[in-house]
Amino acid sequence: PVVVGVLALQGDVREHLAVLTALGADAVPVRRPAELAAVDGLVLPGGESTTMAKLAVRTGLLEPLREAVRGGLPVYGTCAGLVLLADRLLDAPPDQPTIGGLDVTVRRNAFGRQAESFESRVPLAGVPGGPLSAVFIRAPWVEEAGPQVEVLGRVEGGPADGRIVAVRQGDVVATSFHPELTGDTRVHEMFVGIVRRAVGGAVAVPSGAGAG
Ligand code: GLN
Repeated sequence: PVVVGVLALQGDVREHLAVLTALGADAVPVRRPAELAAVDGLVLPGGESTTMAKLAVRTGLLEPLREAVRGGLPVYGTCAGLVLLADRLLDAPPDQPTIGGLDVTVRRNAFGRQAESFESRVPLAGVPGGPLSAVFIRAPWVEEAGPQVEVLGRVEGGPADGRIVAVRQGDVVATSFHPELTGDTRVHEMFVGIVRRAVGGAVAVPSGAGAG
């Protein structure tokens, strides 16, 4: 099976490991550069991006993470993970570093003025089976996306109508929300499919299912 790491500095690491394991990936926590070097793909969990960025600097992981993304490692970021993947941040401490890789401007805690947390139905491009139930917790949104960035999903309705909450650029995927908390594994399935294709291994497509 493909080896999918979960950055395990802080945040909801366990939930991602459980979903990835259920999907047949070899899911491993990543806390050190040597562990990063051994994965075929990486998930950046939700949590607190400011803390994660500090810990990434302290553990010597920030530069290896940047190099890995530049080198084409498939990465999926949820919420704080989206913040870490952004090339540009708004409403962040001025010295908060990011890994980058997504040509987007991300506003942290963007929904905060409306609600600390809420749930909404979001249709996602490339994810069959209807809209996802998306859980937003002090979530960021994508304020601007560059031309190389594919917008996968936007909020529909309410005060944040039209805001971008899911994006993809090459093999880097990010969502403002937390599919790892809802039991809906479709975004992780899409990501594991990206990892499998990147590794060049056999892509197992269950009969009757959509894209792998
Ligand atoms: N507000 C957090 C941050 O900016 C993200 C919250 C989350 O991951 N649920 O890092």
